[in-house]
Amino acid sequence: MAYDVLIIGSGLAGMSAALHLADAQLKVALVTKNELLDGASSWAQGGIAAVLDAADSLEDHVRDTHVAGAGLCHDDAVRFVVERGRQSVQWLVEQGVPFTRDGHNPEELHLTREGGHSHRRIAHAADATGSAVQKTLVGQVKTHPNIEVLEWHIAIDLVTSRKLGDSRGVNRVWGAYVLDRKAGQVRTLGARFTILAAGGAGKVYLYTTNPDTATGDGIAMGWRAGAGVANMEFIQFHPTCLFHPHAKSFLISEALRGEGGLLRLPDGERFMPRHDERAELAPRDVVARAIDFEIKKHGIDCVYLDITHKGPAFIREHFPTIHARCLEFGIDITTQPIPVVPAAHYTCGGLTTDLRGRTQVGGLYALGETACTGLHGANRLASNSLLECLVFSESAAKDIVALANSPAPPPLPAWDESRVTDADEEVVISHNWDELRRTMWNYVGIVRTDKRLERARHRIQLLQDEIEEFYGKFRVTNDLIELRNLVLTAELIVRSAQARKESRGLHFSRDHPATLAEARDTVLDPDAAGGMRPRARAANG
Ligand SMILES: Cc1cc2nc3c(=O)[nH]c(=O)nc-3n(C[C@H](O)[C@H](O)[C@H](O)COP(=O)(O)OP(=O)(O)OC[C@H]3O[C@@H](n4cnc5c(N)ncnc54)[C@H](O)[C@@H]3O)c2cc1C
Repeated sequence: MAYDVLIIGSGLAGMSAALHLADAQLKVALVTKNELLDGASSWAQGGIAAVLDAADSLEDHVRDTHVAGAGLCHDDAVRFVVERGRQSVQWLVEQGVPFTRDGHNPEELHLTREGGHSHRRIAHAADATGSAVQKTLVGQVKTHPNIEVLEWHIAIDLVTSRKLGDSRGVNRVWGAYVLDRKAGQVRTLGARFTILAAGGAGKVYLYTTNPDTATGDGIAMGWRAGAGVANMEFIQFHPTCLFHPHAKSFLISEALRGEGGLLRLPDGERFMPRHDERAELAPRDVVARAIDFEIKKHGIDCVYLDITHKGPAFIREHFPTIHARCLEFGIDITTQPIPVVPAAHYTCGGLTTDLRGRTQVGGLYALGETACTGLHGANRLASNSLLECLVFSESAAKDIVALANSPAPPPLPAWDESRVTDADEEVVISHNWDELRRTMWNYVGIVRTDKRLERARHRIQLLQDEIEEFYGKFRVTNDLIELRNLVLTAELIVRSAQARKESRGLHFSRDHPATLAEARDTVLDPDAAGGMRPRARAANG
């Protein structure tokens, strides 16, 4: 049976798109590789940026986004998102998300402030916003008659007309091959439209705030299907991830600095004012580079984020999750500073889309962290990403609903396993995985050089050859699918970084420290010679 829409990924982008489409009577398959709640969306702590306060303005939110994006944001995308902020948050309120209310006026939402924002404009549910949002949406997705949920199903590759041997007209996606992880079988899911909402690629780095699901699958599948990517070199490193041997990827929210948290060296000295006049409220890239600088300069493992001066009652009320989690590791943040290091946090680039979420491949949409809509430019402004998920999932859904009478997919061939066997040495996968993530951390991290990038490119090429050989011979597993996607995503990040001969936003090169006068996207196209093409926006047939 073919679906109207196949959605790959159940983060905020995937689930909100599913609800909009299903409410419009389209039959939706929502595929997710673990459980519905697994993904970065559930981990978001800070909240969702929107102009909700009378003293704030759309122009200020637009300006803050452009400033953070270092001149590379597309103004049309920025305005498109910012103007829809209020209605997007309102949609979540209507779905029943329990946002924190203003203590003085419970009719209004309480708004917090984060780095790079000139006003308080972050709607939040205490310090676990993503979890509150996702749990609310899961309830609706699971009971919606038009949504079929397929948990523990990992998409392997998209089925395209080109791969089916049909070279007439525009290349078009007709669904995907998906591994049912519990049954160990590959299923062919046909659909009129396919949405890649598979999140980002933080797991390409050794240290990341991202969940294990963030392996660049959407970006890699889209690229293999013929969709272009843009600005992959811009990886946001969150400045403050908890530094503790047993704490895997626990982020200390930006809001902690927004509410007065101070960064200190081990001897207690504050260092941010030396790096930027905005001190702890400077954008993330500035703070991450400053911490990287201080860690390297002093040969220390971490720096400290101190909020003790706000008092226990304030801290417990505003940061209950961080307080509880740090306590599990023996750190009482009401009396002790928190040890922190930077870690890969957000993939600003992705599959190039237009304002309807369309990629350049027919029938294929990309949403959320998988996409590059033009909103973030060279650096994402905090809390703009959940908003981007909401705005673009609605606009993509509208676009698809308007095209819903388009033809159904042709009969699709089954997955061919006739020439593969079970892998004899799984250890190859874990070794390659480890090597890849270390290579990216060491050579394609916060500060880059031409030499480091070249070294990374060379190693990645060797890994790619080995992984492709493995993929060609053995039956697919979850780990192999993810590794194949990670190594391709790594290649795209390195190639993009090498193409940018300047420092801008999140991309800082010691060999090219100046910022060029003209801001240009780095666009890679799988169909162009050498994979590069000039700045261009998405088109679709
Ligand atoms: C710790 C943390 C805190 C954050 N805080 C904030 C914040 O306060 N505000 C903000 O705006 N942003 C925040 N962000 C960023 C934001 O959470 C993400 O950018 C956003 O949630 C991305 O949503 P998404 O739907 O695109 O992807 P995700 O939520 O990551 O969902 C991706 C989904 O795709 C599935 N998937 C992936 N590959 C496949 C495959 N091959 N087959 C099937 N399924 C697949 C995953 O399992 C998952 O369900 C934070 C991120 C992190 C990590």
